[in-house]
Amino acid sequence: MSGAPPFSRIAIIGLGLIGSSIARAAGQAWEGLTVTGHDASAPVRARAAELGFCAHVADTVEEAVRDAELVILAVPVGATADVACAVAPALAKDAIVSDVGSSKAGPAAALAEALPGHVIVPAHPVAGTERSGPDAGFASLFRGRWCILTPEAGTDAAAIEKVAAFWAGLGANIEIMDARHHDLVLAVTSHLPHLIAYTIVGTASDLEEVTESEVIKYSAGGFRDFTRIAASDPVMWRDVFLSNREAVLEMLQRFSEDLSQLQRAIRWGDGDALQALFTRTRAVRQSIVDSGQDDAAPDFGRRH
Ligand code: NAP
Repeated sequence: MSGAPPFSRIAIIGLGLIGSSIARAAGQAWEGLTVTGHDASAPVRARAAELGFCAHVADTVEEAVRDAELVILAVPVGATADVACAVAPALAKDAIVSDVGSSKAGPAAALAEALPGHVIVPAHPVAGTERSGPDAGFASLFRGRWCILTPEAGTDAAAIEKVAAFWAGLGANIEIMDARHHDLVLAVTSHLPHLIAYTIVGTASDLEEVTESEVIKYSAGGFRDFTRIAASDPVMWRDVFLSNREAVLEMLQRFSEDLSQLQRAIRWGDGDALQALFTRTRAVRQSIVDSGQDDAAPDFGRRH
C-alpha cells in the first residue's frame, strides 16, 4: 500500500493490456481507491467483470465516468476523440482527464477540443508487452518504468501533481515533457523499432527462395526477437503511426540515410566503419542495463 490515494474514485475507459494493468496496480497500491471500468467491447466487459480487477464494470461510458475524479482513456489513440466526446456530457465538473496514448500531441489536441473547461493531464507509461486484452494486464507492469506526462503550459499544477502521485503509486518514475518533444523521442525509441520489426518480419514472410519453415526453424539467429515486437497489436500501432506521422517520417528519413551508409560500408569492405558502429551500439545496450530498464541476463533471460 502506498499511503493515502491521490483520488478516491477513478474511471478507466478501455480495459485491455494498459487499462487492466492500471486497475490491477491501483487496486494493489490503495485500498481506499474505487476503480470503475468500461470497454466498448461487450466480451471484454464480461471478461473484465470475471477477472475482477475493477470494483464495477459499467455498461456505458457515461455510467463509468459519473463521479470519477480522474478519468483515464486507455483506448487506441485513434479512438481518443470519439471517447472524449462520449464522456464529455457525463463528466463531473472538476474531473481530471488523462490518457495513456503512445503518441501525445494528436490525442492531447483531441481531448482539448472535446473537453473545454476540463483539466487535461495526458500521460504515456513507457511500459508494455506485445500482448493485448484484459487477460494480458498485470499489476507490476509500470514498476520501475517511466511515465511521461505532457500537460499543456498553464495546466493546473495541483492536478499535475495528483496525476504524478497516482503514477508514482503504481511504481512508475515520472517525467514531464512537452508533447511534441515526447513524440520525437518516442518516434526513435519505440515507433521506428516497431516499424523496422514489422518490415523485417514482412520481408521474411514474402521471400520466395527461402521457405517459411526455414524462417521459423532458424529464427533464433535474431529474427525471433523482431517477431516479438512485430506481434504487437495491429490497431494500436496503425493509430500510433497515423497520429505521430511527422516525427516518424523524420526519424525514418534519418534511419534510411544511416542504412545507406552501412550498405556502402559493406559494399566497399569498410570493416572499420562497421566495427566502430557495432562497438558504439553495444555500449548503448550496456547503458540500458545499467539504468535498470532491462536486466543483464543473456538472451533476455530465456531458458535454454
Ligand atoms: P488493448 O489491449 O487492445 O486495449 C484497448 C481496449 O480499448 C480494447 O479492449 C478495445 O476494445 C478498447 N476500445 C477500443 N475503442 C474503444 C472505445 N471507443 N471505447 C471504449 N473502449 C475501446 O490496447 P493497449 O495495449 O491497452 O493500448 C491502449 C492504449 O495504451 C493505446 O493508446 C496505446 O497507444 C497505449 N499504450 C500501449 C502500450 C503497449 O505496449 N501496448 C504501452 C503504452 C501505451 P476492442 O478490442 O473491442 O477494440
